[in-house]
Amino acid sequence: MPASPISDLSRCAIHTMTNKPWTLRQCVDAYSAAGVKGISVWRNVIEPIGAKEAGKLLRENDMRVPALVRGGFFPATSAEARAKAIDVNRACIDEAHEIGAEMVVLVCGAVPGMSLEDARKQVTEGIAEILPQAHSANVKLAIEPLHPMYAADRSCVCRMTDARRICQQLRDPLVGIAVDVFHVWWDSDLQKEIRLAGETATLLAFHVCDWRVQMRDQLNDRGLMGDGVIDLRMIRGWVEEAGFKGYNEVEVFSDEYWKMDQAEYVKLIGERYLQHV
Ligand code: ZN
Repeated sequence: MPASPISDLSRCAIHTMTNKPWTLRQCVDAYSAAGVKGISVWRNVIEPIGAKEAGKLLRENDMRVPALVRGGFFPATSAEARAKAIDVNRACIDEAHEIGAEMVVLVCGAVPGMSLEDARKQVTEGIAEILPQAHSANVKLAIEPLHPMYAADRSCVCRMTDARRICQQLRDPLVGIAVDVFHVWWDSDLQKEIRLAGETATLLAFHVCDWRVQMRDQLNDRGLMGDGVIDLRMIRGWVEEAGFKGYNEVEVFSDEYWKMDQAEYVKLIGERYLQHV
């Protein structure tokens, strides 16, 4: 059943990458002013000021941080490169803890020429290796399935089903799934998998944007809600039926929108959120 319309922005969060031209402070100020108190923080905006300062800024402004984005990229052809990925992921967990993020989003990775099955095995092993750190920091790890157009080099985890299998192997309360409509809207098993994720308490995050029919760029031409074909209200209905009570996170990478006046853009995000999510 489609969800009923949303009347305010209290459960809206915005990914800082949505407003790529901005610093973390600019994002915090603008989102706060718009009544959006949820912010998922990408590492590039932490880098110039450090995690300590970022955490202070977020706390002082009473922001809620569903996620630090992003860790992952576990598979590699050498042991050294795999070990390096583990180090990077441990640093992500530390940063997430420092800024008060509930989870680290994992873009799992893939290596051209490596079978997807082998890559998924390395992903599972990689997550297992960083779990002790996640537990000591009390930070969740959200596996984000990516659209199969990225299977060659970004993610061997393409469907909710792939993510569920990894969760089932690891069986850890901190490991779950981030549902991003851009990546999974087409999947005929989506409703079923969302229900299963709810039943197994692995439904950690819900990311919204839209799928433009005439996509001009594989990475940076996501639509804003209402620009494309995704039935957001239907999918939010499934997510809420599965018991999800977290933020609806707006995550749009778009060369077109990044060229806009970003303050105007935040207004538009709020309008589209209420109209379409
Ligand atoms: Zn996402």
